[in-house]
Amino acid sequence: MSLVTGKTTLGYILTTVFLSVVMLSTWFALERIEFETKKNIRESLHVVIHTTQESLHLWLRHRKEALSETTKNPKVLKLANLLLLEHQKQLDPSKSITLTRLRLLLADKMNQHGDKGFFIIAPDRINVASMRNINLGKTNVIHQQRKEYLDRAFAGETLFIPTVISDVPLKTRSGVIRDHLPTIFIASPILSDSGAVIAVLTLRLDPFQDFSRITQLGQIGATGETYAFDEQGTLITEIRFNHQLHFIGLSDPDGRGMMTIQIRDPGGNMLEGFSPSLPDNERPLTLMASSAIAGQSGFNLDGYRDYRGVLVYGTWAWDRALGFGLATEIDVNEAMRSYHDTRITIIIVLILTVMLSLGLVVTMLWLESKSQQKLINAHKQLTDKVHEVAQLNHELEMLSFQDGLTSIANRRMFDQLLAREWNRAKRNHQDISLIMIDIDYFKQYNDHYGHQEGDECLKRVAKVLSLVSKRATDLLARYGGEEFVILLPETEKEMAITLAEKCRNDIIAQQIPHVASQINLCVSISVGVSTILPTVKIKSAQLVKRADKALYRAKVDGRNRIASDESSNC
Ligand code: GH3
Ligand code: MG
Ligand code: MG
Repeated sequence: MSLVTGKTTLGYILTTVFLSVVMLSTWFALERIEFETKKNIRESLHVVIHTTQESLHLWLRHRKEALSETTKNPKVLKLANLLLLEHQKQLDPSKSITLTRLRLLLADKMNQHGDKGFFIIAPDRINVASMRNINLGKTNVIHQQRKEYLDRAFAGETLFIPTVISDVPLKTRSGVIRDHLPTIFIASPILSDSGAVIAVLTLRLDPFQDFSRITQLGQIGATGETYAFDEQGTLITEIRFNHQLHFIGLSDPDGRGMMTIQIRDPGGNMLEGFSPSLPDNERPLTLMASSAIAGQSGFNLDGYRDYRGVLVYGTWAWDRALGFGLATEIDVNEAMRSYHDTRITIIIVLILTVMLSLGLVVTMLWLESKSQQKLINAHKQLTDKVHEVAQLNHELEMLSFQDGLTSIANRRMFDQLLAREWNRAKRNHQDISLIMIDIDYFKQYNDHYGHQEGDECLKRVAKVLSLVSKRATDLLARYGGEEFVILLPETEKEMAITLAEKCRNDIIAQQIPHVASQINLCVSISVGVSTILPTVKIKSAQLVKRADKALYRAKVDGRNRIASDESSNC
């Protein structure tokens, strides 16, 4: 039993070790896969934001170069000079032919890019030319909102000017005219022959055009997007999730999301029904926006909430040249989907492995206990068999000590018992006697009555002789043929002779017919008796020899009689 318990314990230990190793390696593998996945996401986000940024730079350089060319155009230069002169003379610009000519001249260039308007701004920051009459002669809107940008233009720089709230009503994409929509500009100085800045030419860009299109190139997967925002955290390019924004109430459909949306953290996933407690402008900037607006570039792969409150991974940069921030973000759910799928597969396989191993152990234990039971049963059967065999053997042994015909002890039994009793008598210094019996003229009996009758006679004689001695220690045995012996331990000669006599009488008393006998008409026996007090010098064979001798004498003397050996102590 202890061997089985030991084996079972070992089985449990091995299974536990195996499962621990499997679980540990699974855990390591999952950690590794997660690490690699995040590394890939980070690289993808970096590539996307970088490419977008480069494209924006290229586009902007191209636009700035074109604007710079325009300011150098002699016609533009001439008209600008004339307009500045008219401005000095305080003429009404709306009635200026010069302005009409300039508008015509610039319309072509603006149409090429879908620009929304232009300004020529005098050094006193007054608009001397514009697409629309309403802002003519007024202080320029850029000067009002982003003075430093315009100052840089007047200092001779051609530059991009991020979001400015429009001074004039503008058409949204859906064609509705709205006030206070944010707009963006590029500005370039107009130089005199001597190289002095005499005015600044600006173009009002349509943020829905190239600007947004370029950032839209930075869309990856189903949720990844790139967008730009100004230092207030205002979105300045179109985003992917306008429909979602409308759904969660962040923008009206006309606004197309941009220019009215702040990159702020609602505090929970609004797509899943979270409703923020704080109004739009009081919510904190998203982790990305607050970092980017602080002038930092960075990335986050732990997940943070974007302007929809959805958990995203992102990378961002504040572009000093452009004067706005750029972010590329992707929903955590999408980015990690393949990892999560892999993880689920691996975990399912792990669970199956664990269940299978446990099942195997249980089955093994069950089988073992079953085979154990079988072993016990087999052992029991074997024991029973052994008992049976022993029993059979015993019976067989008994049989081998028995004479087949007469069922009394056989010669073998007699020999064994003689040896044993001889030794006992020797130890106890007691007489031991032997009676040897031989049926008279038994050959003739057979010849006369037949062998079968002879057998019957032998059985009958044996039966009679078996009744002579009453002592349990005495033994009647068939010595061979028609000869019998009676071994009498602890019996002196007189007693032995008495018993011998009784034998002879009892047989005669049976009156078994034997007409062939030469001395009688019935069966008779001759008997030889020997008695010895055994010593170390005498062998047990002597007892038989003497009895045989005595028997021989009884025969010689005429049969149907007894004879004893005379010298019992020799
Ligand atoms: P004696 O008076 O000298 O003893 O003469 P006997 O004929 O009895 O002696 P003998 O030794 O010449 O013959 C013994 C006979 O006993 C021979 C044999 O046929 C017979 N005999 C021995 N064993 C058996 C037996 O098992 N069954 C039968 N039917 N006869 C037996
Ligand atoms: Mg004989
Ligand atoms: Mg005989």
